[in-house]
Amino acid sequence: MKIDLLTLFPEMCENYLSESIIGRARKAGFLDINCHNIRDYTEDKHRRVDDKAYGGGTGMVMNAQPIYDCVKNVQGTANARLIYMSPQGKTLNQELIKEIAKEERLILLCGHYEGVDCRVLEELEFEEISIGDYVVTGGELPALVLIDAVARLQDGVLPSEDAYTEESHYDGLLEEPKYTRPEVWRGRAVPEVLISGHHANIEKWREEQRKKITKEKRPDMLT
Ligand code: SAM
Repeated sequence: MKIDLLTLFPEMCENYLSESIIGRARKAGFLDINCHNIRDYTEDKHRRVDDKAYGGGTGMVMNAQPIYDCVKNVQGTANARLIYMSPQGKTLNQELIKEIAKEERLILLCGHYEGVDCRVLEELEFEEISIGDYVVTGGELPALVLIDAVARLQDGVLPSEDAYTEESHYDGLLEEPKYTRPEVWRGRAVPEVLISGHHANIEKWREEQRKKITKEKRPDMLT
């Protein structure tokens, strides 16, 4: 999968994307992710990328021109799914992540300040995606959330498919509780079935626990 991230703060994103699982997957060639500075595309002689909003109001609005030119330059002639990270978009969930993970190419636009001039979103037919019903200062964290969740579903990023298919939300349930050594900690013992070595019973326990904790923690997921 190839992902281009358009932002005014490429270093902020690059730092996160160079570490841990995503960083290793990029180095190994399983993910092709590039961060582009929208400011590099401005035609303004002072390198400005934003201006006051027509009609007034607090905060600056990102200009359409540098965003348009950045998208056109980065995209070239190839097809790509264009996503603007926006609190007004469709809310991200695992189903949407699974769908996006099948794309060959993504271009993600991060807004900042008051957001972006809506005309560039219309012109390029951006889809809007939100990470939840709250507002953060910029689209960088939302884009990184989307990239991270999509990246872990790509071949080679995690050690095996089980590493993501058995996680919370993948199949509409939460994952069962986890335990590690020691067997007893502050009087709390690991459930006996988990140290029994009986695989069928362990599987049965897991399944029951998945349903139980989903019912307890997220009953809305079962309706
Ligand atoms: N004025 C905008 C509004 O009220 O809809 C909010 C602008 S926000 C302060 C700046 C940028 O952060 C947005 O352009 C968007 O890219 C990003 N952003 C903020 N909250 C977000 C969310 N929940 N999901 C995705 N992106 C978000």
